[in-house]
Amino acid sequence: MGGTINLKIWCLRKGDFFMQVLITGGTGLVGSVITGDVRLSSKDADLRDWNQTFAIFDKYKPEKVIHCAAKVGGLGGNMNYKGEFFYDNIMMNTNVIEAARQVGTKRLLCFLSTCVFPDDVEYPLSEEKVHLGEPHFSNYPYAYAKRMADIQIRAYKEQYGVEYFTVIPTNIYGPNDNFDIKNGHVLPSLIHKCYLAQQNNTDFVIWGSGEPTREFVFSKDIGKFADWAIDNYKEVEPIIVSSTDPIKIKDVVGLIVEYMNFKGNVVWDRDKPDGQYRKPSSIEKLKSYLPDFEFTSVQDGLKETVEWFYNNYESVRK
Ligand code: NAP
Ligand code: GDP
Repeated sequence: MGGTINLKIWCLRKGDFFMQVLITGGTGLVGSVITGDVRLSSKDADLRDWNQTFAIFDKYKPEKVIHCAAKVGGLGGNMNYKGEFFYDNIMMNTNVIEAARQVGTKRLLCFLSTCVFPDDVEYPLSEEKVHLGEPHFSNYPYAYAKRMADIQIRAYKEQYGVEYFTVIPTNIYGPNDNFDIKNGHVLPSLIHKCYLAQQNNTDFVIWGSGEPTREFVFSKDIGKFADWAIDNYKEVEPIIVSSTDPIKIKDVVGLIVEYMNFKGNVVWDRDKPDGQYRKPSSIEKLKSYLPDFEFTSVQDGLKETVEWFYNNYESVRK
């Protein structure tokens, strides 16, 4: 119990011990690549529970928090577990933001997702469009729970003056992802499915038509951005982080087949949903702060992820 601590970073303030950066969800895809002093997992505290959340925040009294803990899934997870995706996310976000405020946390970064945007929206997605209409039917509970974090943070800024803000990444992938083939996001699910098809000499089955596009971001790019943002981003408005490089699902399937050297049949299951067809986003705001920020290409990111998956197959989440 108690997270991993880098004792060097502890510092004395007004007779009390404050430590610098606490990461919730520190064992996940994103939390594991962000720089921090204490990295929490669900074993340290169930953040859906107020008493456990307050106790762990009171113990560490973090000056800054990067809140990565969430119930996360791809199209399947969002469609099959709508109740859990709503309850877990709204409870975790509400408890974490309130506990941070109560223990005096000065700055907090909370992750949203491009799922929060309305389905019927003028593209490209940009920060001011979050609340302009209904989210897509496939993930509305997750989307509304996440939207409420934005509301809570705006309200807290107005009433308490805290420097809390939200970051909106597009579809993230990388080492430490959730490779569950039913509930994970598309890239980890496909890597795992391709592996199983290869092992068992079966078809590699892809959902939908392969025509939808996604803007994938390598987890380490999100980590680099979060390390900058927790010290430097001063707005209460969200900020989008995306490669802005849309790629068709059928094209990423081609890359996975190539990198995993799959020689069997690729089959398209058109009874499975396509989800949102496209969600192009704008990173004009990010570029205004960080004009030289570079995103890893999906080719390089996928090669690294596939290699990590092979090297860690026994222990990966699946
Ligand atoms: P992830 O890999 O699934 O990791 C989730 C983390 O949350 C894990 O460390 C997990 O701890 C922790 N957690 C889950 N339930 C918890 C609970 N009840 N109490 C305490 N901790 C709990 O998620 P991720 O992909 O890194 O996502 C990080 C953030 O980015 C989330 O806010 C997510 O919505 C957002 N985001 C993700 C994507 C994406 O494509 N993955 C895209 C856009 C935005 P255990 O290891 O102990 O289970
Ligand atoms: P989204 O970006 O939030 O919609 O979530 P995903 O990461 O789950 O991506 C969904 C897109 O990938 C849809 O167009 C699906 O039809 C397509 N897809 C193809 N095969 C799979 C699969 O095995 N799992 C998932 N999750 N999506 C798949």
